[in-house]
Order: sequence, then C-alpha cells, then structure tokens
Amino acid sequence: MRIIDMRSDTVTHPTPEMREAMYRAEVGDDVFGDDPTVNRLEALAAEHTGKEAALFVASGTMGNLVSLLAHCGRGDEAIVGDKSHTLLFEQGGMAALGGITPRTIPNQPDGTLRLEDIDKAVRADDPHFPRSRLVCLENTHNVCNGVPLTAAYTAQVAQVARAHGLRVHVDGARIFNAAAALGVTVAELVREVDSVTFCLSKGLCCPVGSMVCGSTAFIAEARRARKLVGGGMRQAGILAAAGIVALEQIAPRLGEDHARARRLAEGLAEIPGIEPAPVHSNILYFALAEGVSKTNDEIVDALAAQGVWLLGRENGRFRAVLHYWISDADVEFTLQAMRDVMLS
Ligand SMILES: *Cc1c(COP(=O)(O)O)cnc(C)c1O
Repeated sequence: MRIIDMRSDTVTHPTPEMREAMYRAEVGDDVFGDDPTVNRLEALAAEHTGKEAALFVASGTMGNLVSLLAHCGRGDEAIVGDKSHTLLFEQGGMAALGGITPRTIPNQPDGTLRLEDIDKAVRADDPHFPRSRLVCLENTHNVCNGVPLTAAYTAQVAQVARAHGLRVHVDGARIFNAAAALGVTVAELVREVDSVTFCLSKGLCCPVGSMVCGSTAFIAEARRARKLVGGGMRQAGILAAAGIVALEQIAPRLGEDHARARRLAEGLAEIPGIEPAPVHSNILYFALAEGVSKTNDEIVDALAAQGVWLLGRENGRFRAVLHYWISDADVEFTLQAMRDVMLS
C-alpha cells in the first residue's frame, strides 16, 4: 500500500541527488574546522540569510538552544510567544540548560507578537527583575496555521527591541516556506534581526540538520554553546552535503507544496463536516464541524487504513503538512479517502 505521510514535513526522505552528494562528500573533522563540505554549507547558509556566518547543528531545537545560550546569560529573560515552538515543544531548554527565563506574551492569530506587548514586557533596570535580553519570533508560525511573518513586521519588532537594547532571534524552522509564500528572499525576511535558525530536515528534505546564522561574533559564541551541549560533530560533511543540495534544488520548489496545501484545503472545504483553516504555506489545519458524530481518532484511524497519515490530536484539530514527497495524485487520493470516511 502506498503511504501518504502528511503528519509533518520532518518525514521527508533525502532525494536521490542528496544520497549521491552524501556518498561523494569530501569530509574532515568539523570540530577542527576541517570539513570542507560543512564549511561550504555554512557559507551558503550565511549567503541565503544575508548574515556574516553560519553554524551547522543537529536539529532545530539545538539551533534555538545555542542561539539563546549565545544571546543570554543565566538569569536573563527572553520574550517569547505563548504559542511558540521554543516555549511549547523544546522541553524548556532555555530554562533547564541556560537559566534563561521565558517571558511569554500572546501570539496573535497571525503569528505576530503585538509591538505594545513586547514594549511592555521589557523589564526596567531594577534589582528585583531579571534582565531582558532577547525577543524571539517564529516564521512561519507552526501553531498559527503556518502563517509567514513579513519583513516589514519583523523590522518593526527589531526596532522596538533595539530601542531597549534587546536582540532579536527568529526561529525560522520553515523560513524558506515563509519566503516562498511571500515572494521575497530569506535575507529580506531577516535583514533586521540578529540571528535566525532554519531546518534542513523539514520541507527541505535533508535527513538531519539545521543552520544557525548571524554575525561572526554571535556564531563564535553559538559554536561554543554547540560544543557545550554535545553538538560538536566530526565528519559531518556527509550530512552537510544534503544541505547544499537542499538549498540549491529544494528551496526553490517549496511553492509547489503551498499550492497543494491550498488544493487540499479547497477539496476538504467541499466535504460536509470538515472545516479547513486558512492556508498560508505548507501546513493545513482543519477541524470537524459542530455536530459531526465521529471522533478525531476514528477519522485518523480510518484514513490510516487507506494509507493516509495525518495528525488528529492538535488541540482538537487535524494537521496535514505538504512536502516534496506528496504529489497532486496523493492530494486527490486523500480527498477521496476523506469523502469515503465522512460519508461512511
Ligand atoms: C520543528 C521545529 C523546531 C525544532 O526542530 P527539530 O529539528 O525538530 O528539533 C523548531 N521550531 C519550529 C517552529 C519547528 O517547527
């Protein structure tokens, strides 16, 4: 049976071109700075984000953690959205490992933090208070329907932060999707911020890895923090080789996934009982209408029996994520499977 796995874009396998590049990769000991393939990937990532330097890390979680450790000291405070991945899904690593307090303010439905809320959350210079150091944004915003944050909004946040002497970090796990959705470059989206992480292992199809990008001084600190958390890798060029292919071949095609997400949403909207949320990128959430007698679990299980895998326990919502390995035919098959399930 063909499996149509839309639980996440993390399920993407490497492309044949990636496997070939991995096989052929020139390698060295990256902790010594000797791996030419890692060095090439880091230079390429810096170029794409318009930053001075970049660092290859094992995961997005590690990328955010080393960024926070590089920006903040123990007892400092980082302002984060209450629906952010960094707050909800990274085990509170900033607090557990860095002694950094997350100061949460509400994420608006469009994924933004209100500028007034950021402004008000910044601590005064008072011995009772932790020191505010950092504002974190997420682009695209996973829980907020995969919505992209614009360059103009991000610049406004940076302006507020700078006025208080704070820095800005962007969790750009899917920032290449944001750039594709908005029709701009990644560099434009992060021009005014101090650091950005993005995932190679999601829609960009790599088996492993994320990048952290920022100034040379910041990346030097992030590199120290990576070693601290056990993330110094040796012949990592095997993995980095896939990242180079991702940036050259996969990043330019992400708009196709967005088009398929829209098509899936349009089709679902025509099925009685299904209510899709607006689609902004490759992530589609949907819910059951009031009065539908089936449970989310029943629907997830019935779809799985037909080879269609998606998540059904996301705060009562379903989530389907489009990616490289999902074709137009898969989208149509999924719609037919959903019709069968809802009408049975
Ligand atoms: C997936 C994700 C991460 C973490 O990436 P991992 O590689 O899974 O650790 C961070 N932020 C966002 C928004 C994500 O979607």
